[in-house]
Amino acid sequence: MDNNQSYLLNLHTQTDVNIEALRTYAEANKVPIVDKLTLDMIKQLIRLHKPQNILEIGTAIGYSAMQFASVSKDINITTIERDSEMQLKAKENIEKYCLSNQIRLVEGDALEQFSNVNDRAYDMIFIDAAKAQSKKFFELYTPLLKEGGIVITDNVLYHGFVSDISVVRTRNVRQMVKRVIEYNEWLMNNESYTTNFLNMDDGLAISIKGESK
Ligand code: SAH
Ligand code: MG
Repeated sequence: MDNNQSYLLNLHTQTDVNIEALRTYAEANKVPIVDKLTLDMIKQLIRLHKPQNILEIGTAIGYSAMQFASVSKDINITTIERDSEMQLKAKENIEKYCLSNQIRLVEGDALEQFSNVNDRAYDMIFIDAAKAQSKKFFELYTPLLKEGGIVITDNVLYHGFVSDISVVRTRNVRQMVKRVIEYNEWLMNNESYTTNFLNMDDGLAISIKGESK
């Protein structure tokens, strides 16, 4: 971690103290929840864009969904998770923090849940599940995104491997990193979206739907 990043993390005081307790659980149990400064960025985008409906791919324990919901009572989140243990944890947490009225958990593989979430249009989509599948998620769900809507993709620099794949030793990870590289290039060249990439934490891509000007 560089000095600027540690400085900003220490400066950090405004997080929701209650939900933040889940970060300790996530760290102890190796659940890859969104990094702190990235979360700040996304919450700020939510305050600016004021989405009414957010679609999240990859719930895990519900941490990011609850953080997004905490920005405003007017936000509804639909979040998809395939892992049954994670589904249980997420349900437990969402109940505990009394956010069931704002968060709808859809259980199953996100590649197969389109018909369970297409009852509304979305203002924002957060892609944070299996990293090799980000393009598939993007293609499947962005027809539900409103014009001017935002797609946020997490982990686009995956552990620093995206910029230097030569350090990757295992075949599986190498395959996955190649897919992330392909996704980033495809996204950058997608003329229906304007995308910028942030070199923050594990890398974040912010894409706005609509022709670039
Ligand atoms: N967004 C969460 C972290 C998600 S971690 C947060 O920041 O708090 C990624 C999650 O995506 C894991 O729980 C994993 O089980 C789930 N996942 C991976 N591939 C998926 C798929 N195809 N469909 C649904 N969930 C998936
Ligand atoms: Mg992530």
